[in-house]
Amino acid sequence: MNTPPGPGAEERGHATPPAEEHHVVIIGAGLSGLGAAIRLRQAGIEDFVVLERSHDIGGTWRDNRYPGAACDVPGHLYAYSFAPAPSWRSTLPTAQEIHGYLRRCVSDFGLGRRLRVNNEVREARWDETEGRWHVRTDGHRYLSRFLVMATGLLSEPHVPELPGLSTFRGPAFHTARWDATCAWAGKRVALIGTGASAVQCAPRLAASAGALDVYQRSPAWVLPRLRRPVPAVERSAYRHIPHLRRLARTGVYWLRESWLLCFAGPAHRWFGTAVAALAGLHLRRQVPEAELRRRLTPSYRLGCKRVLLSNDYYPTLRRAGVRLVTDSIAEITADSVVTRDGTARPADVIVLATGFTVDEPAVAHRVTGRAGRCLSDAWSGGMAADRNIMVPGFPNMFLLLGPNSGLGHTSLTLLLEAQLDYVVDCLTQLARRRLAEVDVLPETLEAFSDRLQRHMRRTVWVRGGCHSWYLDSRTGSNTAVWPRSVRSYRRLTRHFRTDGHRVRAEDR
Ligand SMILES: Cc1cc2nc3c(=O)[nH]c(=O)nc-3n(C[C@H](O)[C@H](O)[C@H](O)COP(=O)(O)OP(=O)(O)OC[C@H]3O[C@@H](n4cnc5c(N)ncnc54)[C@H](O)[C@@H]3O)c2cc1C
Repeated sequence: MNTPPGPGAEERGHATPPAEEHHVVIIGAGLSGLGAAIRLRQAGIEDFVVLERSHDIGGTWRDNRYPGAACDVPGHLYAYSFAPAPSWRSTLPTAQEIHGYLRRCVSDFGLGRRLRVNNEVREARWDETEGRWHVRTDGHRYLSRFLVMATGLLSEPHVPELPGLSTFRGPAFHTARWDATCAWAGKRVALIGTGASAVQCAPRLAASAGALDVYQRSPAWVLPRLRRPVPAVERSAYRHIPHLRRLARTGVYWLRESWLLCFAGPAHRWFGTAVAALAGLHLRRQVPEAELRRRLTPSYRLGCKRVLLSNDYYPTLRRAGVRLVTDSIAEITADSVVTRDGTARPADVIVLATGFTVDEPAVAHRVTGRAGRCLSDAWSGGMAADRNIMVPGFPNMFLLLGPNSGLGHTSLTLLLEAQLDYVVDCLTQLARRRLAEVDVLPETLEAFSDRLQRHMRRTVWVRGGCHSWYLDSRTGSNTAVWPRSVRSYRRLTRHFRTDGHRVRAEDR
């Protein structure tokens, strides 16, 4: 992995370094950016770089290192189909394992010399006359014909505006920026939030903390977590019998696709109710106390917010020294968390499990398309992209796992692979037909968005009676989740077609 000259070259009086020119610039070295790099190489496109703001690759799995961090879809599905991972040690791999897998992909596919770490993109600007993207990082410049945005939907931690948070004397950090130096054993820990990360880390925190207060705004639906270690003999069978691995993957694929019945489609209400009954049973079994159970019972329909998986979260809340606090937080003082009823609960450490900023991605302020229009302006009415990939007015730019690319029912790698195939098909066709530029037409996006939002209207994400991070805080529409099956998305992205796009030939 390469680190470019670094910030401050200009201030130190050096001349501005010459721009590196490439066919494709990829921004972000997480699952999406690395997947793009591999697929480009496989398609014979060798002239590209991957720019990454951090010191390492891995995205989500590099950043989310809180105790207990793990995937909640089966490992069989959480790996690229073109780079199988037969050696997951458990059916739901940990963050460390996934990070290790991505590192192996970097070496197996020879991506190292194309990676530019410690290289945060400050600006990406389309130059109309040159027909190129100008990308600027700290102290470095790049020029490219194509731009792939792989900056992640869940990569900007959301820190709520809690009055007094900055006055807190002890360590306070977000789960996605875990402070590994913080010695929380024996300390009083305040865990704020009860979403997917909180449910994973609360049991680990409770096991060593002196006391744990869990601050809940709204309870989640929690289902049993079907996780088991994968014995060495099974791993070896997956390694040596690729058919067996493919069979297992196909089985899990269809099982997870059928899970969509709880979220979308004409009968989702009935399927959702049946699964909610299972979740209710799980709660009743694990929490005999009626009052605690009442506070842990959601008032919205199952699926409206992310469904969580855990066998040890509810038992944790019943442990001595652990309190579930459902009063909302009024302020943070130097050494405590104060709730609206005036109670101050002392804390030595605050852990913010408060999710991510999704609807207004920071990077959108840094990308400028035709006529100097910023992506954040194009998205002032909510994020949208044709097939979730291309935005009118931003030629030769592709988004990976951007708007409406989240999935409530299965692994994101499946949707990502469909997007990668589409991008590679587009680049290959443009090269074959000697086309220099492609820009999707506004009416193409409009028709796609209308269809998408029509499907969305029949889903639990908009009808389930909750307010979730899937919904745009400005418009209330769901711009985060794909409301249909992966199979239907695959059909939609199988081939790139130039109709519905404006293209420009190479020589002018
Ligand atoms: C705690 C957690 C658990 C999850 N569990 C699951 C799961 O079980 N199953 C599932 O399918 N999905 C899960 N997800 C979703 C997960 O984010 C995706 O599966 C996947 O990792 C997204 O990959 P990505 O490459 O698109 O984004 P990321 O992994 O977020 O990577 C984006 C990269 O872009 C870099 N970047 C951002 N801005 C810039 C910039 N300006 N310049 C340069 N680099 C930049 C970031 O540093 C990062 O490395 C989970 C997410 C979280 C947060």
